[in-house]
Amino acid sequence: MKSYEEMLDEAIKALPQEILVTQRFEIPKAKGHIQGNKTVVTNFNQILSDIRRDKDHFLKFLLKELATPGVFDGPRLVLGRKVSGSMINQKIQQYAQVYVLCSNCGKPDTQIITKDNLTYLKCTACGTQKAIKL
Ligand SMILES: [Zn+2]
Repeated sequence: MKSYEEMLDEAIKALPQEILVTQRFEIPKAKGHIQGNKTVVTNFNQILSDIRRDKDHFLKFLLKELATPGVFDGPRLVLGRKVSGSMINQKIQQYAQVYVLCSNCGKPDTQIITKDNLTYLKCTACGTQKAIKL
């Protein structure tokens, strides 16, 4: 008679490898600080490489949503006014939901493609295509 632990062990071994290594995509969070009346996001490049989207498009979205000017300073982004970290994170999340995450399966394995003058977010995991506005 097998113990419960042994049966559990066997059940785990029987699972296809992919299920065990799949990790949930974490939307990156901004790190930074307030400097005078400006806000410095120190890990902007890291966020960009996590979401794998166009730098200028993401920046334009962020500045418009936060209603602030902003400039790059090396890998950092300097915003022209004081903005709370939670506010920035909320906007990153909003961006990821529209331009990064698949609306069907929720995976971040997507590409932005243009077809017949329309732009789509195409999921390479499940094949879903969703029209988006850039
Ligand atoms: Zn998908």
